[in-house]
Amino acid sequence: MDFSWTEEQNLWRKTVREFANKNIKPIVRDIDSNKKIPIDLINKMGKIGLLAPTVSKKYGGSSLNWTMACIAAEELGRADISLAIPVLYLVEAAWGFILDKYGTAILKEKYLPKITSGDAFVGIAVTEPEGGSDIIGSLKSNAIKKEERWILNGEKIFISGITESKKMGGIHLTLTRTDESLGHKGFTFFAVPLKNNPNINTSLFEDMGRMGISTGGFLMKNVNLTNNNLIGIENKGFYYAMEGFSAARVLIGATCVGSAEAALEMGINHIKNRKSFGRYLGSYEGIQFPLAEHYANLKGTKLLTYNAAWIMDKMYNEGIFSNNDVALAAAITKLKAPKHSFEIMNEVADWFGAIGYTKEYPIEMGIRGVRSYSIGAEGTMNIMKIIIARELIGKDFLPYK
Ligand SMILES: Cc1cc2nc3c(=O)[nH]c(=O)nc-3n(C[C@H](O)[C@H](O)[C@H](O)COP(=O)(O)OP(=O)(O)OC[C@H]3O[C@@H](n4cnc5c(N)ncnc54)[C@H](O)[C@@H]3O)c2cc1C
Repeated sequence: MDFSWTEEQNLWRKTVREFANKNIKPIVRDIDSNKKIPIDLINKMGKIGLLAPTVSKKYGGSSLNWTMACIAAEELGRADISLAIPVLYLVEAAWGFILDKYGTAILKEKYLPKITSGDAFVGIAVTEPEGGSDIIGSLKSNAIKKEERWILNGEKIFISGITESKKMGGIHLTLTRTDESLGHKGFTFFAVPLKNNPNINTSLFEDMGRMGISTGGFLMKNVNLTNNNLIGIENKGFYYAMEGFSAARVLIGATCVGSAEAALEMGINHIKNRKSFGRYLGSYEGIQFPLAEHYANLKGTKLLTYNAAWIMDKMYNEGIFSNNDVALAAAITKLKAPKHSFEIMNEVADWFGAIGYTKEYPIEMGIRGVRSYSIGAEGTMNIMKIIIARELIGKDFLPYK
C-alpha cells in the first residue's frame, strides 16, 4: 500500500492549481452574480485539458484516469467554492467518458472534439417530474423505433446545463423507456441535442447556488433521432447511466473535498488573526475542538474519495473490482463528502461572525453550492444509503424490485 502522490500527479495538481488561481478564483463572485461562466474561460479550460479529460486523446481528451480526474476536480473545488465550474467539469468528465465508451463513431466524431475544446456541452438527463430517486418506477419518457429512426417523447426535469447546451450546442445523454415489459432492463440511452431543436421546449429554475451553471428541464415532443444517437445497445441504458453516476459521484467527492479545504483554510486564517476577549479566536477550546473534528472528517473524506478513484482505476485498467465495488465506493464518497463539506463551511461561517453572512466573503457561495449535492444532485443521501445497504445485505432487501 502506498499513499504517496506520483510526480505526474503532483505536476498535474500544480498545473491545475496555477491555472485555477489565475483564471478562476478572481472571478468566482462575478460568475455567481452574472449566473454564467464566461465562454472564453471554458475555452481556456479546454486548452489545458480540463474539459472531459477522461475522453480519449483521439477526440481531444487526455485519457486521464480517475485519480487524475479527481485531482483536477479537487483543485477546481478549491478555486470555485460556489461549485459552478466544478459542476461543469465533473458532468462533462463523467458523461463524456460514457459517450466515448458507448457512443457511435459518428456521434463521437461530431461531438467529442467540440466538448473537449469547450465548443459543445455534454450533460445527463435522467430525472423526471414524478421523481428522481425511484427512476425505475417514475421514468415515463419513451422512445419508439420506426424503421431506422427513433421517436422520443417525455419530460426531463432538474437537468444541469440546459442554457449551456442551448448556447454552445451539444447533447444530453437522455434515458428513455423502450420496452415497458422489461422494467429497468427496457431503458435506452440517447444523445439528444437541445440547440435549435424545434421538437424540444426547455425551461429553467432559479437555483439556490452554483449560479454559474444552469438547471432546468426539457419537454420532448416527437424528437426524431437516427441510430447514430443511440448510446450503446438498446435496452442497456440503465446500466450505462449507473456507470456514469458512479463516476460523477466520485468526482463530486473530490470537488467537495476541495471546497471544504479552501473553506477550512479561510477559517484557520481568520481564527489565527481575529481577537475576542483579548485573545485570538483560535486559542479557545470552543473553536479548536470543532476545527479538529472537521479536519478529521475532511481527511477521512479525502481518503474515501481517492480510494474510490483508485478502485475505479483498478477496474477500468486492470479488471480488478466490479461495477458493484465501484458503486459502493462511489456511494460512500457521495454520502460523506457533501455532508462534511457543508458542515465545514457552516462552521467556518460561524467563526467569521457577521461578515460570514455577507457577500464580502465567499463562504456563503460555498454553503449555497454544496447544498445541491447534500440535497441530491446525482442521487440523494438516502439513495446512497440504499446502495450501500444493497451491497452489504443483497438485492433481495431493496425497497424496489
Ligand atoms: C442542482 C441540481 C442539479 C441536478 N442535475 C441533474 C442532471 O443534470 N440530470 C439529472 O438527471 N438529474 C439532475 N438532478 C436531479 C437529481 O438527480 C434528483 O433531484 C434526485 O435524484 C432526487 O430526485 P427528486 O428531486 O425527484 O426527489 P425525490 O426522489 O422525490 O426524493 C425526495 C426525498 O425523498 C427521499 N427518498 C426517496 N425515496 C426514498 C426511499 N426509498 N427511502 C428513503 N428516502 C427516500 C430522497 O432521499 C429525498 O430526500 C439535479 C438536482 C439538483 C438539485
